[in-house]
Amino acid sequence: MKASQFFISTQKEAPADAEVVSHKLMMRAGMIKRLGAGIYNYMPMGLRVIRKVEAIIREEMNRAGAVELLMPVVQPAELWQETGRWDKMGPELLRVKDRHERDFIIQPTSEEVITDIARQELRSYRQLPKNFYHIQTKFRDERRPRFGVMRGREFTMKDAYSFDRDVESAGKSYENMYAAYGRIFDRLGLRYRAVAADTGAIGGDRSHEFQVIAETGEDAIVYCPDSDYAANIELAEAVALLPSRGAATRALEKTATPGRSTCAAVAELLGLPLTQTVKSLVLATDEKNEAGDIVKTTVWLLLLRGDHDLNEVKAGKLPGLKAGFRFATEAEIADHFGCKPGYLGPVGVKKPVKVIADRTVAQMADFVSGANEADFHLTGVNWGRDLPEPDAVADIRNVVEGDPSPDGKGVLAIQRGIEVGHVFYLGTKYSAAMNANYLDENGKPRPMEMGCYGIGVTRIVGAAIEQNHDERGIIWPTSIAPFAVVLCPIGYDRSAEVQAAAQQLHDELSALGVDVLLDDRGERPGAMFADWELIGVPHRVVISDRGLKDGKLEYQGRRDAQATSVTVADVVTLLR
Ligand code: ATP
Ligand code: MG
Ligand code: MG
Ligand code: MG
Repeated sequence: MKASQFFISTQKEAPADAEVVSHKLMMRAGMIKRLGAGIYNYMPMGLRVIRKVEAIIREEMNRAGAVELLMPVVQPAELWQETGRWDKMGPELLRVKDRHERDFIIQPTSEEVITDIARQELRSYRQLPKNFYHIQTKFRDERRPRFGVMRGREFTMKDAYSFDRDVESAGKSYENMYAAYGRIFDRLGLRYRAVAADTGAIGGDRSHEFQVIAETGEDAIVYCPDSDYAANIELAEAVALLPSRGAATRALEKTATPGRSTCAAVAELLGLPLTQTVKSLVLATDEKNEAGDIVKTTVWLLLLRGDHDLNEVKAGKLPGLKAGFRFATEAEIADHFGCKPGYLGPVGVKKPVKVIADRTVAQMADFVSGANEADFHLTGVNWGRDLPEPDAVADIRNVVEGDPSPDGKGVLAIQRGIEVGHVFYLGTKYSAAMNANYLDENGKPRPMEMGCYGIGVTRIVGAAIEQNHDERGIIWPTSIAPFAVVLCPIGYDRSAEVQAAAQQLHDELSALGVDVLLDDRGERPGAMFADWELIGVPHRVVISDRGLKDGKLEYQGRRDAQATSVTVADVVTLLR
């Protein structure tokens, strides 16, 4: 490939809306071009990277025995009504109408469509197990699209779906995908961690996220350096903080930068919009010594979903909660959360708070009678006025570094991550809702056991840059670099010798299957080198009259401090 046949468009400055380094560098390197909020053109340079990511994913999915198909972007609403997600999904689901006023959605994921295919095509146990996947455009009307392709509204996802006859076999399909994901992220050259995760809106009870380790990640990962315990903090916390008033909600939203607030996580976990009221009670337990003196008081939050009806709650019972819990006093709350008495405690907590998981309506009763009495519940908090601004998201976490690891093997550490992949065991959630049955050996219909497996193809491109860059630009892992090698001839437009040598090396490397680009634009060396350092090509070879006199070229790896003088033969050996 020659630069003149390709399209290169680099910029000195990044646009003002680019907050993180990957977004800035992708814009400056001419990889993407903004069309609207969270919607990007993938320009030729960026598309080459995306295609390489896709190729690695496709190879490993095929190797793992998955079968590729392609499901439509536009899907009829009826299927989504069948599973109930038409009503449940909220504003993230983009709905459209056709000319006949029929409802459709732009797919954010494809469980419904694949289950519809499976119920028609997979009729017998002999056809199972089966794993179908596609690499397709998704649309999610994200509340806060940002960070370029990392949280876009339109993006590319690889999503796979497994169908099995029973739970045991589904477990094998899950393990198989988990292993394939390890191979994919290894080949992509990323530093990542597989962590236990909550199953969120999709349901089921087994789930892992693949998190690329990066400071700018929107997720927090809790892990134990002395064991293999690792979990998404949302799961580690079970459920967490909540504001109970609008001002506090908005305040907490503010703290969600650059990571996501625990509050947002809770809202998502409970399937509620962040602005919806979520009620909480602050409780305490006392540990006493033999003499009966209180030696330690632990503050807890009891969460009540915003859609719970208080009267209904009052009529129920609370068997799930052990004896020993009491309402925290106003003074205890103020002391613990570092706020003025009289305001909602949970907002802006400076100390770890233990959380009692979201209780069902029936479990809430005893504690709710009295919830609105003095000392029990703080209201009307105003960020900044009543409470100090928290320094960081970590301040409002319930799990903090140094907490004991749940496996008892050490203490917890916290790290930020970017979710690039997610594997779920779904059970029969979709097959039961949509009547996707197969006939077993005895001719008896049974619902298929399902799993789903996503990878954020375009998000990976951003995540790779977050991990691999310096002050000059991107440093691509070779496996996904837009070009593996760039040839930079000096005086290409003036010297016939340089031109001939560059062309010859280009042809030789190309014949060996090396992804090489010859920069024949005739740029001055400084500008030319700056471009390729920004674009992040891992290997650069400089061809000049001066070097050619001694039969030498200059080679520099993107991470090398200096160039080294090498022979043509050396270069070919090095790069082949
Ligand atoms: P997040 O927690 O970041 O919103 P998610 O859990 O909603 O992601 P999944 O439903 O698990 O996402 O989708 C599978 C994969 O798709 C994710 O692991 C992620 O890599 C990618 N993905 C999800 N949302 C986006 C987005 N808005 N932009 C780019 N990639 C995304
Ligand atoms: Mg999401
Ligand atoms: Mg997630
Ligand atoms: Mg996910």
